[in-house]
Amino acid sequence: MSAASTAAATAVAWAGRILALYGQGDLTLGHVSARLGERGGDRIYMKRKGIGLEEVTAADVLTLDANGRKIGGAGASHLEVVLHTEVYRAREDVGAVVHTHPLYATALSAVAADLQYLTHDAVLFPDGVGIFEDTSDLVLTPEVGAAVAKALGPRRAVLLRNHGVLVVGRDVRWAVLTALTLERAVRMQTVAESLGILRPIPESMIAAQHASKYREGFLDEYWEYWVRCVRRAGLDDGMPRGSHRPRRPAGNGVRRSR
Ligand SMILES: [Zn+2]
Repeated sequence: MSAASTAAATAVAWAGRILALYGQGDLTLGHVSARLGERGGDRIYMKRKGIGLEEVTAADVLTLDANGRKIGGAGASHLEVVLHTEVYRAREDVGAVVHTHPLYATALSAVAADLQYLTHDAVLFPDGVGIFEDTSDLVLTPEVGAAVAKALGPRRAVLLRNHGVLVVGRDVRWAVLTALTLERAVRMQTVAESLGILRPIPESMIAAQHASKYREGFLDEYWEYWVRCVRRAGLDDGMPRGSHRPRRPAGNGVRRSR
């Protein structure tokens, strides 16, 4: 494994543990992946099937080609690997994908309601969230995966009707932030709706708030904080020392292989 591959696999492992720490685990379900452009085409680094998000080490991260075929690592791929491969195919700007079944956002996927701009959390999604509703079943074929990517469109997140969420980021740090922030925004909305009439942030202010709150320069700080939280919670067994910041490498790290 190259140093970049090891770093990507380690970042995917930390991401799983961070998501689990914040309650996004569901049995052995849910997955995180990262994409690197390498000689010979894109490489996708994705958690293997069969273990929980909080159990992933770098050794549990498979190397896949752009079509989801396993080219490295031990263990089986998740059945829904097409969620990742088809989103990467559709979005050159995406370097990491998270699919989970978080409580509040999954509940939002099951009702006729939209995300409201109630707090800074929702402002991470200035163009809203997509909704995929072709099926509530598992996403098992490239055709259905491509339909999820279409429902995502240019956005950061898509709700999978009656199923869960898929979020993307330019790298693993951003994808984790997006997954945690979507869940927090919907949780906040759930509480706010019980308190009174909603008073959303005016639409005219959302773009400016987004720019001031969600800056690339903040992400390493957040990542290192999450890693410390995972360690304090004792969820770091099997993980190496250090924080392994998942930065997109020079040259953008992502190169389309098509
Ligand atoms: Zn799922």
